[in-house]
Amino acid sequence: MKNESEYSGILIFAEQQEGKIHPISFELLGKGRELADRLGEELSAVLLGHNMKDVAKELIYHGADKVYLFDHPSLRDFDIVLYKENIVDLVKEIKPKFFLVGATHLGRSLAPRVAAALETGLTADCIDLQLDEKGDLIQIRPAFTGNILAHIKTRTRPVMTTIRYKIFEKMKPDTSRKGEIIERKVKLIENTGTRVLRKERERTVNISDAEIIVSGGRGLKKPEDFKLLRELAELLGGVVGSSRPLVDQGWISKDHQVGFSGNTVKPKLYIACGISGSPQHLAGMRDSKIIVAINIDPSAPIFRVADYGIVGDLYEIVPQLIKEIKKRKFGDD
Ligand SMILES: Cc1cc2nc3c(=O)[nH]c(=O)nc-3n(C[C@H](O)[C@H](O)[C@H](O)COP(=O)(O)OP(=O)(O)OC[C@H]3O[C@@H](n4cnc5c(N)ncnc54)[C@H](O)[C@@H]3O)c2cc1C
Repeated sequence: MKNESEYSGILIFAEQQEGKIHPISFELLGKGRELADRLGEELSAVLLGHNMKDVAKELIYHGADKVYLFDHPSLRDFDIVLYKENIVDLVKEIKPKFFLVGATHLGRSLAPRVAAALETGLTADCIDLQLDEKGDLIQIRPAFTGNILAHIKTRTRPVMTTIRYKIFEKMKPDTSRKGEIIERKVKLIENTGTRVLRKERERTVNISDAEIIVSGGRGLKKPEDFKLLRELAELLGGVVGSSRPLVDQGWISKDHQVGFSGNTVKPKLYIACGISGSPQHLAGMRDSKIIVAINIDPSAPIFRVADYGIVGDLYEIVPQLIKEIKKRKFGDD
């Protein structure tokens, strides 16, 4: 796959779980549409699953010109070998210039295998995509533990990249948009070595979609003290987040981790309790609409991004907040 001029258009991987499109796929279509329009090229999506024809239309409403649909009972659940084989054959045939995949658990497992099979490069975990004057893709991702933003250009084709969730805006769906759904013959493999025994709930919390997050950092003295933050979060209708050290110490699961090596979040309200505001933590939450920081150290970097800063001990402030909210909500004293 060496001759650059053979490659055209943008392809995105449309991820589905139990027949429902993951929102990151719409975000990829939003950015893909913008890039495709600037290049004057087509935007396509590849979707694998079972009974997905109606679902495929949603991808068109969100910006796709074409949807390559692989529809078969064996594709209902994610099977890495089957998915990879079918996608690789498609990419070899349609030769997209850029192939974008969401950096979800599934995407992070799929993209490197597809890239390796295509003998092309992969830039993982991008937080922005731009075009240079020649129409080449500039892939932007944090490097050196988030202290710099690397601008990466890939020589191999197609350019493959995974993009973090909640980075790009999705288009407003337009049900009058027209596009083509192209049903593809599914390549079946007798035994891929994967068998679904039972389904577990994937996550205990979906922090990336939360609108209110109360996060704890090393200002907490012991694991049980997360109870205090959980009480505040629940009163506000939100969930609990964490900085990385507490996850590393096993105080709380990684699903709750906010930051460079955890989850990117964009809630309406982010309350950081006893978090200093390292670049790696800020990388995951700085786009929150309103940031409230509670910290005993007035020089803590978190205050530089906070909309409201409370200099004080979280063990005094959080109970006061809980008391005040309860009073307003339930009339308690
Ligand atoms: C490759 C790499 C990836 C990383 N990824 C992440 C990531 O995804 N997410 C992440 O969070 N970190 C990440 N880190 C770690 C990061 O560098 C910091 O070490 C971490 O964010 C610090 O966590 P903290 O703010 O909880 O702790 P600290 O920096 O120790 O800050 C604790 C804060 O609590 C305050 N405090 C203490 N007691 C109280 C009290 N009673 N009341 C109020 N405030 C109090 C202190 O003043 C201090 O500001 C990563 C590091 C590396 C090298």
